[in-house]
Amino acid sequence: MVRDWANGKISATKVQEYCFGSQSIGGKGLKSFAKMGKSGNNPQHCQRDLITAVGKPAGCPDLYWAPMHIKDKDGNRCERMHPFLLPHEFFAALWTEKKDFFKKHMLGDEGDELNALQEFWEAQSNNSFVQDHPIIGGRPELLPLTLPLGIHGDAGEFSHQENVFVISWNSLVGKGATSKTRFLTTCLNKTELLDDGTTLNEAFEVMAWSFNLLANRQFSITDHTGARFDDTSSRFQQGLFKEFPPGRAIVLQLRGDWQFLCQAFGFPQWNAAGNMCWVCAAGDNFPWTDMRPEAAWRDTVRTHDMYLQDIAEREAAGGNPLSVLFKIVGFTLECICIDVLHTLDQGVTLHIVGNIIQELLRAHTYGPNVKDGCSRLWLMYKQWCTDNKVASRIPSRFKPTTFRLEGKGKFPKLRCKAAEARHIVPWALKLAQENNTESRHDKLRLACVQSLCDFYNQMETKPRHYSEADCEEARQTMRMVCSCYAALSREAHEAGLRLWRLVPKFHLSIHLAEYTIPMWGNPRFYWTYSDEDLVGQVIEVAQSCHPSTMTAVALYKHMAHLSILA
Ligand SMILES: [Zn+2]
Repeated sequence: MVRDWANGKISATKVQEYCFGSQSIGGKGLKSFAKMGKSGNNPQHCQRDLITAVGKPAGCPDLYWAPMHIKDKDGNRCERMHPFLLPHEFFAALWTEKKDFFKKHMLGDEGDELNALQEFWEAQSNNSFVQDHPIIGGRPELLPLTLPLGIHGDAGEFSHQENVFVISWNSLVGKGATSKTRFLTTCLNKTELLDDGTTLNEAFEVMAWSFNLLANRQFSITDHTGARFDDTSSRFQQGLFKEFPPGRAIVLQLRGDWQFLCQAFGFPQWNAAGNMCWVCAAGDNFPWTDMRPEAAWRDTVRTHDMYLQDIAEREAAGGNPLSVLFKIVGFTLECICIDVLHTLDQGVTLHIVGNIIQELLRAHTYGPNVKDGCSRLWLMYKQWCTDNKVASRIPSRFKPTTFRLEGKGKFPKLRCKAAEARHIVPWALKLAQENNTESRHDKLRLACVQSLCDFYNQMETKPRHYSEADCEEARQTMRMVCSCYAALSREAHEAGLRLWRLVPKFHLSIHLAEYTIPMWGNPRFYWTYSDEDLVGQVIEVAQSCHPSTMTAVALYKHMAHLSILA
């Protein structure tokens, strides 16, 4: 039953109902369940009491409660205790209490000859964030017992206007399903975040403190503010007497959507004046729309040191200080990864496919009007999916709004989920091939989608670590995608057509190919599909429980789920 609850198959209220029933017919050991909630059937208190009844799951730490400043319902600043699962305690608990689980899902050790960890460190050895790392830099003897970690932050919508920020971490060499490789740290209701960034920064303080203990292989007798734990508390005892496991872990990567990066680091928004990009100085002085190899923004790509200097200058002029996340030992600007899901699958790809299909609809290629064209294309698409055994298909019939937002003056953009967008690209390529009149326009269109398809294929077929030649290929392919699109965009603009709109994600895609891939290799190994699954799981919890207990229940459910997994 607890297993079903953890898996999300039944709600806490249902668990309570079952127990209540079974107790009345003489069920044993279920008294504590049946007492759940004040009156025995109060859903609000039910999940909290279930937690009390079930106890702490194996391989999991206790919740850590930190005082945080939040925005209450009326928009006032107030203080509240907020729960966390501390990464260093989670790491130690899994190491000690779930060894086999740890080996497979953290170390990536599946009994194969190739050691995932060793392979990772060999491939990363040239990166500055490894070479100059305060703990492992120049100390190769530490690497066999050092796990590289990634942090992921993203928001998910759980009701009409409410979003929850989900912050998790994972081992970069871990293997297995989302549920076994992603570990929640905390979640935050977005409506409760203070506008000045205090709430998020306070959460990051807790995280940085815990990650640094993990990097230094330590428990602590003080809390994240430096105050001593109560002498009688288990954490104080742990800090004083318990030996930390022999392994350590360091944060080397951070993934998230642009919005999360903006909130976490104070990066410029994509529409910011002056400088719209956090990787380089693109903006007013260096147009990001310039996709040529000699574009001026290329000379302005920042290193971590340049970034620190920039922030110091901006702070002196009244700007935001450096993000608290940089308190994590060895964490640098280069650790922030540009991700395929957000940049291509939910960005560039939607524009390219949307425009191709919109043009064919306008040209009446597949029917006398847009509506008939949609119907015909839908049948063709369905057949193509069946013939090619496509894993991720757009489930609903095509409508004019599938390819273009409603309203006058809107540009084409495909509407579908990220995985569906990635899988539709070969079909869009087929359409571009079948409708190629050899005109300049058609050739550009074909080259654009062909290159996009090639880029995805490279990811699909190549191993985790890209060779120099692989990196060069990725760079050339993405440049081709963006320069063809930019040419189509110029052409449409000159003809006064609302087609091929150039958006900043094209600029970011070039950084993905030129900046992120050379450091991190094949994007398939750090795209955020698994992370998004975890966000989905938290959303289910958020929808089912009271806002005041949301984070605690989500964290607990996450632990209950992990404890039953092998
Ligand atoms: Zn840039």
